[in-house]
Amino acid sequence: MASRSRLLVATRSRHKLAELRDLLALPDVELVDLDDVGIADEVEETGGTFAVNAALKARFYARLSGLPTLADDSGLEVDALGGGPGVRTRRYAGERATDAQNNAKMLTALEGVPPAARGARYRCVLALALPERAGPRGGMPVRLARGTLSGRIATAPRGANGFGYDPIFEPQGEPPGGATVGEWSPERKQAVSHRARAARRIRPALAQLAIGDVSARRPAPAGRA
Ligand code: IMP
Repeated sequence: MASRSRLLVATRSRHKLAELRDLLALPDVELVDLDDVGIADEVEETGGTFAVNAALKARFYARLSGLPTLADDSGLEVDALGGGPGVRTRRYAGERATDAQNNAKMLTALEGVPPAARGARYRCVLALALPERAGPRGGMPVRLARGTLSGRIATAPRGANGFGYDPIFEPQGEPPGGATVGEWSPERKQAVSHRARAARRIRPALAQLAIGDVSARRPAPAGRA
């Protein structure tokens, strides 16, 4: 059987991997994650923007694995918090905060803020790094694609679907107190989410992997960078 091209998705989040697998729908490309290729190293997300962090993650894991690598950096910008927590979204309530702790901290931070001032948006940047295209000095080209989903922060959590801030995120079009993304079906989220929009934009570059324009070699044994 001819082996399929492999694409490393640089995440340990089962939710992100599952969403990306559905969104990218690339039958001729095998999506593998960091655990699948035995990479335990963690890259420090030192960038000040989603784009810088996504590119940093994609390059780091592409170098380690030798595989074309797709990294997602995403988060929430809340108007009443001056655009925060932004790149700190996952760690909003602390380094190892759970989704429930992050949601609780967000609701407390916005206590008493009226609906019109609770505007927020999810942002996603996907970065694709191609190790086969590395230059003589090791520089590696990265393609970026962005997506946004606007909405507002609810006043209480509702719904058990999705992950992260979905139970307290009322997407654009919903009235205050209306459905949260946590109450949406996965299909509905996948139609309009920030990740879906970015995935649609990066898909043409990924489709080239399947037709061999960019070859994907077997991963080198994982080790320290
Ligand atoms: P990172 O990209 O892994 O640094 O973290 C992004 C964080 O943003 C996640 O841990 C979630 O808390 C949040 N986030 C990103 N995308 C979504 C989404 O689709 N739904 C809910 N929360 C999200």
